[in-house]
Amino acid sequence: MEDVGCGSAINFIQSIIDKDRAEGWNDGRVHTRFPPEPNGYLHIGHAKAVILNYGLAVRNNGLFNLRFDDTNPATENEEFVESIIRDVKWLGADWGDRLFFASDYFDQFYDFAVQLIEKGKAYVCDLSQDEMREHRGTLTRPGRESPHRDRPIEENLDLFKRMRAGEFAAGSRTLRAKIDMASANMNLRDPVLYRILHARHHRTGDRWCIYPMYDYAHPLGDALESITHSICTLEYCDHRPLYDWVLDNVDYQLVPGVRGRPKQIEFARLNTNYTVMSKRKLRRLVEEGHVSGWDDPRMPTIAGIRRRGYTPEAIRSFCDQIGVAKSDSVVDLAFLEHCVREDLNRKAPRVMAVLRPLKLTIVNYPEGQTEWLEVENNPEDPAGGSRRVPLARELYVEQDDFREDPPPKFFRLAPGREVRLKGAYIIKCERALKDPSTGAIIELQCTHDPETRSGGPGSDRKVKATIHWVSATHSLPATVRLYDKLFLTADAEAGPEDQDFTANLNPESIEVLNQCRVEPAVAHATAGSRYQFLRQAYFHADPEDSREGHPVFNRIVSLRDDWARAQKARSPDGPGDGTAR
Ligand code: ATP
Ligand code: MG
Repeated sequence: MEDVGCGSAINFIQSIIDKDRAEGWNDGRVHTRFPPEPNGYLHIGHAKAVILNYGLAVRNNGLFNLRFDDTNPATENEEFVESIIRDVKWLGADWGDRLFFASDYFDQFYDFAVQLIEKGKAYVCDLSQDEMREHRGTLTRPGRESPHRDRPIEENLDLFKRMRAGEFAAGSRTLRAKIDMASANMNLRDPVLYRILHARHHRTGDRWCIYPMYDYAHPLGDALESITHSICTLEYCDHRPLYDWVLDNVDYQLVPGVRGRPKQIEFARLNTNYTVMSKRKLRRLVEEGHVSGWDDPRMPTIAGIRRRGYTPEAIRSFCDQIGVAKSDSVVDLAFLEHCVREDLNRKAPRVMAVLRPLKLTIVNYPEGQTEWLEVENNPEDPAGGSRRVPLARELYVEQDDFREDPPPKFFRLAPGREVRLKGAYIIKCERALKDPSTGAIIELQCTHDPETRSGGPGSDRKVKATIHWVSATHSLPATVRLYDKLFLTADAEAGPEDQDFTANLNPESIEVLNQCRVEPAVAHATAGSRYQFLRQAYFHADPEDSREGHPVFNRIVSLRDDWARAQKARSPDGPGDGTAR
């Protein structure tokens, strides 16, 4: 990956790293990680964390690890592990041979806990969850100490061993750190380090029935992997003192030859409007059938946007431009789409496809004749080249490029009107044929002016509109899925008190068109290829549903750049950072 993703302006985390390196802290090493919990698919917010962590490692000649934080067997599984690996790779982050699992360290975590007990810094507590909550106090009232807080060390060691051996019921006991029940920071009020869970783990099977808590496992995982900068989102700010307490009080062994210890740094999570980003809500969309799966092209998951047709380059550019902040904000979805459009504008070949076909016959064009017209592939790409597009007597054009009674400013086809067929001739609409029973227009009969072939001597004759078309006989069928926003409201997470967020779903977020016709160059689109359908939008040949000779296209983004327009209207001086106002 190039040097992107950290914010093109040097971000505040890079400034911390610069200072650390100048001071020789951790021997000047930079080692970051991305620590997903495999309890769902990654979303665009996670992409920011991946790209930031990986980008910082690359920029500072450092290392990057992928570590699964798999400490809660109840919600985690292999499907999620595999999807996350695929997604992180697709985003372009490279962890080399450093793929780790917190569960690989369960033995060490256990030994460290024994160490804490031996030092009198952890104890087995018999309070139930409710009692513990009640003892915990509030932000304004200090907590009360557990009656088991001063258990003798020997008894703690024995009970903890028996917890591990499976002698106790789930929820009946915990191991807690002995810190300070009166601390102003609730996280330091004797937090739980281990809980009993009789659940099968996706990697360790039934070996364990006690599992470490995130706040205990995370700093130790970082330390064991000699991470230097443990970058996480703002909600962990209040957990940082506990992160440091664990590292201060456990004698962990670093990788031989490596010195130093990790430090936690928090940044603002990425939020975008018109979508939800909580895994719990995404899971509900999948489980309740509001979408076809985690990879539904309307989902903000990496799997979803990949299938929709977004490119990793566009996502990296997006992350780079929104930068890294210390306070939360909402980024406009239109800005993400703008980044996708910018990337595709350079890369995607232009082709012609008719989504809602209307038959058009050029009555003065010889029957059985075909002309192969040379059309350029991409005016934005000097190396784009050209292709040949067949013209014949019978064509298809877009239904809404014709109006029987054209309103003012409608310059396309109407009785007696002329338009240019893209890359071909000027045609004139002589008459529209109707279905006698329904009155629906079923065919346009036109004539062409043979002197006006594009690129030919008469090609400079001007008409007011150019439309796309395909040959009826040479074109092939395709299915097109037009996607729109998944939610109707910008703040999709919220709703009136009594209303669930699913009430905000857009009932028209997908429209499937089955009668589309595409020019022959596209018909054999390999799954995964992207095009601009002229005058319409960018499309991606769906990798799952496309069949040989019948591609299925997902609309990636429209051609209209709402973000750039709004930006222009706001300030003529150029682009901002995508923040929604
Ligand atoms: P949960 O913890 O509720 O399951 P999560 O989204 O925090 O959900 P994790 O798997 O814990 O999921 O996240 C992995 C990493 O990605 C964490 O370091 C987290 O801080 C970061 N992350 C999660 N959501 C975002 C976001 N919206 N923007 C940036 N980073 C994020
Ligand atoms: Mg989390």
